[in-house]
Amino acid sequence: RAKEMGRDHYAFFTERMGSDIRDKLAVQQQLRGAVGRDEFEVHYQPQVCLRTGAMVGAEALLRWHNPTLGRVPPGVFIALAEEYGFITAIGEWVLESVCAQIRAWQDAGLGNIKVAVNLSGKQFAQDRTVPFVEAVLRRYAIAPACLGIEITESAVMGDPDKAVAALTRLKDIGVSISLDDFGTGYSSLGYLKRFPIDVLKIDKSFVDDVCTSCSDAAIARSVISLAHNLHMRVIAEGVETREQLAFLSEHDCDEMQGYYFSRPLTAQAFTDLLHEKRTLDIGAA
Ligand code: C2E
Ligand code: MG
Ligand code: MG
Ligand code: MG
Repeated sequence: RAKEMGRDHYAFFTERMGSDIRDKLAVQQQLRGAVGRDEFEVHYQPQVCLRTGAMVGAEALLRWHNPTLGRVPPGVFIALAEEYGFITAIGEWVLESVCAQIRAWQDAGLGNIKVAVNLSGKQFAQDRTVPFVEAVLRRYAIAPACLGIEITESAVMGDPDKAVAALTRLKDIGVSISLDDFGTGYSSLGYLKRFPIDVLKIDKSFVDDVCTSCSDAAIARSVISLAHNLHMRVIAEGVETREQLAFLSEHDCDEMQGYYFSRPLTAQAFTDLLHEKRTLDIGAA
């Protein structure tokens, strides 16, 4: 079964992990110390400008390979890492490794690649996170504009005042803020007004049927105009077909990411892509 699901999928048993209590305990056991054993790896999914077709950045997506459990998807282990209190250590490892990678790309003359890192609400709620971001940017001498943070609505819901303060601080130093999975959480348009958001990400669930469902098409178009009217950029997630691409570029969406252009790549494969300077053929759409 795992095999037939293709290369980017995971062993079957992980699908029910997180609900089975024994699996949860196994994950908890293995998660503790996974950073120290160097079991994590950051993959990079290109983000592409829909006007020029150029690769303008990447989203950092965490991968965990554990000798006992195999490949555990982030959809499973992130929630458990939050529950068991490992998320801060893991999240800081991601920030560190992304900044080291940005520095390596700059040193190699590959330009100022902009990378967006997903930050869990739990990590975000901690006072040490913003100073950590500032410190890691300094340590690798990276312009804050090269770093983005992706948060979800639920990440900021717990303590909105604190979230506003932290995001404002990050934005003030030049880190850009994206609101991930927009439209799937307990969305309140009030958040868009209160939070210093630079980018709205249209969730994949609206992109999937954007060409066949009138309501998804209407939602996508509305999110694009909402973002633009609020002077935000908008990125569509999970673009898989050329028809979806055509719809999005026709309706003035700024950027896309998705399997149509590229799956998340290892740092090495992403580096190769930067060398190739591959662009998206918007015309072909
Ligand atoms: P997300 O931030 O919304 O990331 C987008 C997810 O969609 C990724 O799944 C990505 O691989 C997948 N994706 C992108 N394009 C396509 C496409 O065209 N088709 C399909 N079917 N999928 C596509 P992934 O890597 O499994 O990550 C799942 C979630 O785990 C992420 O959702 C994010 O919420 C969380 N996550 C991943 N890495 C991190 C991390 O470093 N820290 C935290 N806190 N969360 C992370
Ligand atoms: Mg994301
Ligand atoms: Mg998302
Ligand atoms: Mg998601």
